Amino acid sequence: MNNKLYGNLIFELSKEGRRGYSLPQHQCEKYKIPQTLCREKDAELPECDELTVVRHYTNHSANNFGVNNGFYPLGSCTMKYNPCIDEEMAAQPAFRDLHPLQPATTVAGAKEVCHDLEQLLCKLTGMDAFTLKPYAGAHGELTGLMVMRGYHESRHDDKRTKVLIPDSAHGTNPASAAVCGLEVLEVKSLVDGTIDVEDLKAIIKEQREEIAGMMMTNPNTLGLFEKSIPEIAKLVHDCGGLMYYDGANLNPMLGACRPGDMGFDVMHVNVHKTFSTPHGGGGPGAGPVGVKAGLEAFFPAVSPYEGNFAVLLRTYAYILSLGKEHIKEVGPLATLNANYIKERLKDLYLLPIEGLCKHEFVFDGLADKSTGVTTMDVAKRLLDYGYHAPTIYFPLLFHESLMIEPTENESKETIDSFIEVMRKIAQEAKEQPEELKAAPHRTPIGRVDDVQAAKHPVVTYQQMLHDNN
Ligand SMILES: *Cc1c(COP(=O)(O)O)cnc(C)c1O
Repeated sequence: MNNKLYGNLIFELSKEGRRGYSLPQHQCEKYKIPQTLCREKDAELPECDELTVVRHYTNHSANNFGVNNGFYPLGSCTMKYNPCIDEEMAAQPAFRDLHPLQPATTVAGAKEVCHDLEQLLCKLTGMDAFTLKPYAGAHGELTGLMVMRGYHESRHDDKRTKVLIPDSAHGTNPASAAVCGLEVLEVKSLVDGTIDVEDLKAIIKEQREEIAGMMMTNPNTLGLFEKSIPEIAKLVHDCGGLMYYDGANLNPMLGACRPGDMGFDVMHVNVHKTFSTPHGGGGPGAGPVGVKAGLEAFFPAVSPYEGNFAVLLRTYAYILSLGKEHIKEVGPLATLNANYIKERLKDLYLLPIEGLCKHEFVFDGLADKSTGVTTMDVAKRLLDYGYHAPTIYFPLLFHESLMIEPTENESKETIDSFIEVMRKIAQEAKEQPEELKAAPHRTPIGRVDDVQAAKHPVVTYQQMLHDNN
């Protein structure tokens, strides 16, 4: 790519008077815009010909990394393969061009998709009713917690304003609780990474009357199946609380077991994680919320219409294209792939918790700590070899967390070549640590100073001009 010719910013390519397209002069109506609504000065827009614009953005898009470029083992996010048929369905004009205010009689097909999807999600999770409205997992958490509040309020049980959340939970759990006006009671983990039931008992004993419920992720954020769910659910139910299931890690449970059969009352499904749709940087997603019978009366109105319909359509296509028989293979295959990588790398990377994992697992950086090479360096070096980095520095339980989730979709060849690269990087850490500390070397942008970027973000073009002057 000729960077200079196609530029870093479209504004740098602007030439006064250059046009990509002009409207036919005599066929366009002129609108009279009230003077008060008009700009005082012309907007400073870039002026470019069409080829320049197309090449500029095409070349920029080629600098992106996505699931269609290569392996994307981002733990906790389930970046799975996005089948082309899902995209094709979402792009069908009959769906794509729907307007939310169309008469109901003209959207029967879309309504049927939503209804069917709700039924399928009920079957897969063991819940009795679903709302498709929430726009993401975190939005689903808020929705589900509002259901919990609604339930307690309907019983005039107003003191229940506290939610139990394990210390291993995703940050959105306590954040959603806070947004919902609930207080967080943190539950400790044991050294094996699962919930400390004795700690839970002690907290419940102190605050029995004030507990609205408990949020749990299973398998938890370490990729471990929580072994005490029936006991935990009984403790929470006995004190009058409800059980919430964070469905971000539903992937390995698909076809194997269901949250609804384990004592959970409310849950969300991050359908963009478990049922395709590449996501990141805030979208796109959807977080349908499921409840046990009776609780659907407390579904709040969290979005207009039917939520993020295009993502829901991909979900529907993903489930139907696998079918009842093949959806059962998702969990076991995702689990096999994760354990295979873990076992083949644990001599070189520090595995803080031994044993079988589910769909993902966490290393605590390189095993050999004498090289000074960090998880950040390993992640940056992976980019040089054409792999997206795993999730790093999450969960917060370890200093050098490196969280790997291969998903069920990857071939053995892809997984083997990832393992080879991870082993090679461990070798490089011993032989040429400085090379790793300066990585990446082969990407369009090198090592970013992320502290500087976070503290002094340059987000507008004008700002940059000022900085240069
Ligand atoms: C991703 C994730 C969330 C948040 O979901 P979003 O769809 O990103 O809002 C919540 N909990 C866990 C465990 C997650 O992995």
